[in-house]
Amino acid sequence: MRTYEDRLRNGVRNAGDAVNKRSVRDFDVRGKKVLVRVDFNVPVKNGRVMDDTRIMRTLPTIHYLLQRGARPILISHLGRPKGAPDLEYAMDPVARWLEKNLGVPVLKLDKAVGPEVEKALDKWDGEGVVLLENSRFYPGETKNDPEFAAQLASLADLYVDDAFGVAHRAHATIVGVAKLLPAVAGLLMDEELEHLDKVLHNPKRPFVAIVGGSKVSDKLRVIESLLEVADTLLIGGAMCFTFFKAEGFETGSSLVEDKYLEETARLIGEAGGKLVLPVDVVAAEKLEENTPSQVVRVEEFPAGSMGLDIGPQTVEKFSGYIADAKTIFWNGPMGVFEIDAFSEGTEGVARAVAKSGAVSVVGGGDSVAAVRKLGLENYIGFISTGGGASLEYVEGKELPGVEVLPEKEA
Ligand code: ADP
Ligand code: MG
Repeated sequence: MRTYEDRLRNGVRNAGDAVNKRSVRDFDVRGKKVLVRVDFNVPVKNGRVMDDTRIMRTLPTIHYLLQRGARPILISHLGRPKGAPDLEYAMDPVARWLEKNLGVPVLKLDKAVGPEVEKALDKWDGEGVVLLENSRFYPGETKNDPEFAAQLASLADLYVDDAFGVAHRAHATIVGVAKLLPAVAGLLMDEELEHLDKVLHNPKRPFVAIVGGSKVSDKLRVIESLLEVADTLLIGGAMCFTFFKAEGFETGSSLVEDKYLEETARLIGEAGGKLVLPVDVVAAEKLEENTPSQVVRVEEFPAGSMGLDIGPQTVEKFSGYIADAKTIFWNGPMGVFEIDAFSEGTEGVARAVAKSGAVSVVGGGDSVAAVRKLGLENYIGFISTGGGASLEYVEGKELPGVEVLPEKEA
């Protein structure tokens, strides 16, 4: 098996790129108009921001710029409008949130580019922040249209990318504009890369990786990468049933991806003792609240049932590895944590991670939701805002939004 360092040498990813990105800290921003790509893609209902986590995570960069006398012009996408204005996805709820919580004036514009925006920016007294309209109201955003990027770039003197969660997308506000303006990483971007790199390059050992979630097909590459760097890989979630079926166990109606049995079997073979699967699971007849369920040993899985969580003995076993770990990376819930009866595995693992003194990084939309639901987000080392982006980073893929940012000057 190739080592992670080999892969880096072969250019799967440029070694160490990440932590060496030029940062907003390296620049004199005073008096500059700074276009800041943030990830304000938050859930909105009835004109209200329902979860402000992503906005909160960009506040350090915004405050940093304000304290140093820069003029931040914020841009983000929100939801999936189809390249045209759609009131449902307007940034107004975010503007209201900022007005209430930022403590400075917020000038919200109804466009992201064009003469009206230029005029408004000319008239702007430079107090507080400007919030541009949803970048995905423009077809040029997802197409990385050079003209759209040029229009955006003309609004500012400097570009700050603080949207790690979108770094895997080669969009105009991520890539196009970064090529046209002096570009630097924001504080959140910096922090995300620093933590992921801490895990991937020379991690303190033992390094324990935990992978769960629904589809093994989503995460085969991640598992492969982690097998190269981690000392132990704990597998839970629905995906463990594809592993069990590959090993010849009964899996009933559990979520198994038959197409990937061969590849899963190959991974088991290559991983040797590194890969640790559950010894017991929670089985139920259907995926529903209040369905009777039972804990069964993996080799005694009942044919008519589906496996919906890891069992208590597995939690104990996994917790042992976690307690000894010096570095932890976790992606994917251990079971259907959305239903209380099947959330104990995820909770047990989360508590073990919180208790361990290890450097820990949690990535993945649902994993982070699970940790928050349990109220453990402040006890776990680093919570990545990048779902897909953090996984692609761990896979060793080059993220367009990271790639495009220039290296620190030596
Ligand atoms: P993340 O967003 O953290 O990367 P995924 O999207 O891969 O995680 O998976 C999360 C989903 O997996 C959750 O909705 C959870 O209910 C589901 N899941 C976990 N274990 C099982 C299981 N045994 N059977 C069915 N679904 C599961
Ligand atoms: Mg998910």
